[in-house]
Amino acid sequence: MVDIDIDTTALGLIGYPLGHSISPLIHNYALDKLDLNYVYLPFEIEPDQLKEGIQGLRSLKIKGINVTIPYKNDVIPYLDDLDPLAEQIGAVNTINNHEGKLKGYNTDASGFKKMLKEDAGFSIKGKKALIIGAGGASRAVGEVLCQNKIQELHIINRTENKARQLAKKWRENYPAVEIGVKGIAENYYRSIMERMDLIVDTTPVGMAPETDVAPVLAADCFHSNLLVVDLVYNPPETTILRAAKKAGAQTLNGLTMLLYQAVDAFKLWTGKEPEVKDWYQLVLEKKGW
Ligand code: NAP
Repeated sequence: MVDIDIDTTALGLIGYPLGHSISPLIHNYALDKLDLNYVYLPFEIEPDQLKEGIQGLRSLKIKGINVTIPYKNDVIPYLDDLDPLAEQIGAVNTINNHEGKLKGYNTDASGFKKMLKEDAGFSIKGKKALIIGAGGASRAVGEVLCQNKIQELHIINRTENKARQLAKKWRENYPAVEIGVKGIAENYYRSIMERMDLIVDTTPVGMAPETDVAPVLAADCFHSNLLVVDLVYNPPETTILRAAKKAGAQTLNGLTMLLYQAVDAFKLWTGKEPEVKDWYQLVLEKKGW
């Protein structure tokens, strides 16, 4: 841990709740290892306090902030500027405070893309995918899949209207991609499942501490030609991944995506690049994953 003094600069994470997050662990480790006079803190902000929380970042001169569930869309109106990719996606997971001006970025997209390539050997072009969820993470995942020429993309969400809004935007921006949309209707997802190559669960269902819950998709709908990705990384094997693995599917949790997006955020704030392999080792040691 860094020796905190009058020159220490604060970084941190906002969201609600935050109990699942390993961001403080990895960022503080890298700050210490690179001998940087920063500290990374968790700030759990209650849903009706977001505006005041963002204002507090300015007044307390907090240099950099990660944004997690459920605020990736909601922070946008309170920022001064948006990076073009964050604007296109419509979600922010990283904020940089430059002399009181807050600029929003999205590093989830690059983290997700890198994870698919490096950790699953999955090539997006011409494939068929189903996304579960229509929140901040879903926006980044859909954008990456569309930009990289997925052939067919389906989105289902508990609140159907939110999925419809995203589907509309993707149809307008990527007319070559065939887009399907629905609420979480079993007859719908079962009807497309056989031809899917990729399922991405972007909901928090199964995330610690509520790990023992049924997955959004029925446990018997998976098949062995699928890659099933759950963006949740705590616990490392959620109920959806367990069911998918049982059916012989390839599975991946969100840990490496978290690490890749964190590298990009860290670079933005400090100009230095931490080693992903050190972080990976740290998480294995500290969390026993
Ligand atoms: P968000 O903006 O709050 O969106 C959550 C989505 O999940 C919404 O579509 C919501 O549906 C749906 N949902 C929530 N509870 C549900 C339930 N019980 N049943 C069915 N659907 C449910 O959150 P987010 O920022 O996208 O994050 C989502 C998850 O991804 C979190 O677990 C987060 O930790 C994880 N994540 C991981 C990484 C990584 O790097 N590994 C990056 C980003 C996110 P409604 O629209 O109906 O509310």
